[in-house]
Amino acid sequence: MKISLIQPPVRDFYQTPHRHSALGCFSVQKILETAGHEVKFYNFPVWQKQVSTPPLPTELYYLKPFLIPGENGPVSWFHQRKHFGPSFEDCARVALKNNPDMIMISCFAWSYAEEAASMARAIRRQAPGIPIEVGGAGPSVNPGWFKGSGLFDRVRTGQAEINLKDFPGVREDSQPVTPIVSPVEESFHGKPQFTTMLTRGCTARCSFCANYLTLGREFRKTAADTIIKMLSDYGVEEFHLDMEDDNLLVDPDYFTDFLERFHRRFPAATLSAENGLDYQKLSLSLAGKLIDWGFVKFNLSMASADSEILAKQKRSSRLDHLSQLLIFFNDRKIPVITYFICGLQGDTVDSVCRNMGFLAGQHTEIGISPFYAVPGLPGFEHPGTGNQPESPVLYCGSSVYPWNGNLTTAQLITAFRLCRLINLLKSPATEQWKELTDRIITEDKLYTTTGKGQKKTLLEVPHMDNEMTRKVLQYFK
Ligand code: SF4
Repeated sequence: MKISLIQPPVRDFYQTPHRHSALGCFSVQKILETAGHEVKFYNFPVWQKQVSTPPLPTELYYLKPFLIPGENGPVSWFHQRKHFGPSFEDCARVALKNNPDMIMISCFAWSYAEEAASMARAIRRQAPGIPIEVGGAGPSVNPGWFKGSGLFDRVRTGQAEINLKDFPGVREDSQPVTPIVSPVEESFHGKPQFTTMLTRGCTARCSFCANYLTLGREFRKTAADTIIKMLSDYGVEEFHLDMEDDNLLVDPDYFTDFLERFHRRFPAATLSAENGLDYQKLSLSLAGKLIDWGFVKFNLSMASADSEILAKQKRSSRLDHLSQLLIFFNDRKIPVITYFICGLQGDTVDSVCRNMGFLAGQHTEIGISPFYAVPGLPGFEHPGTGNQPESPVLYCGSSVYPWNGNLTTAQLITAFRLCRLINLLKSPATEQWKELTDRIITEDKLYTTTGKGQKKTLLEVPHMDNEMTRKVLQYFK
């Protein structure tokens, strides 16, 4: 069968290269090609780097007061939502060009469900009779929405290794994890960059995490040598490899075995794990080994500095150990970003300020992830009923929707800007922005900049929570 496999364009305020590494699509392509099908994959969000600016959807009008046109400074929030990729009509034309027998659309997050639907509509307009299927994390968490749209002949949920078994030629006993390596469009400090996922699934039970809804609870691993062989086939020795696994440290022995072999084969390669490592499972000796094997930066997930909030999320914390690790990395001049989730159930303005205050005093950049609901998480099982909105676009992290009702959109954006401010104050670039930082610290109010050069203007950020700003700035006075 001839299949066009499509990653539709994405609409969001930002994108990162790793987000569009399309590892799920590569798995589907590999499984179906192994079964003898001809699969052409179109990764449209990065297709010819096309970007346009569609109007803000009406569901996001509540963000209008927070968008500052032309904002560009180091404490800025987003100001323009974008369409990453060609138009849906152009994508449909490209994907139909080689006369496929079937279209498969990937939806890697529920928040991008509208894009999958728009893609299907464009295909239907140009080829009304062609079968269209949809799969990925989006349909896995809310299949009813996709079925109810009437746009898809089939909605596939869960892992590709299981949900494609009805395809002619796909073996019942196919591998539990499809090994995949994907080249990343952007280089890493001038070196080619690849991304992979060594494992799937996670045995932990963090209440805020929806990964298990698609990938399950069972921890599954690829054979280390298979990934190393796939990388060898690219014929480059000096490159960067990002591992996109959800929780690499579920099985530290497996991980260290892979890294030892990898480093032996590619001594000049560097490594990172952009999705983050659980710092509680990272001992100082293991951290040292990771650096020896090629890790050049670390993303650590703290989630929260508040142990009571974490306990309710079925997660623990060891902040003293985190501090030790951050000192260790700082001594070795290894950059670290430590992430917390802002707006967890139980969070208050004070707990969010404590997260920022704790990390402000550590050797780390702060990464802030606004909490966003996913259909199927406790309390968010039924989008479109009760107080739970249905519109997928609200489920984007960048939509800063007040899911738990404990922090407002204004407070979530204030926290985002304050994290950027703290990072600026701790960086060598702070000297360049002295006028801006002095003004913020003197007035206990957030300011930002628009324009460039002679036209650069300082202005107060409207609608921010000045009390939150005052509390966080205490850490710097
Ligand atoms: S450890 Fe990470 S992947 Fe596992 S459940 Fe928690 S947040 Fe999800």
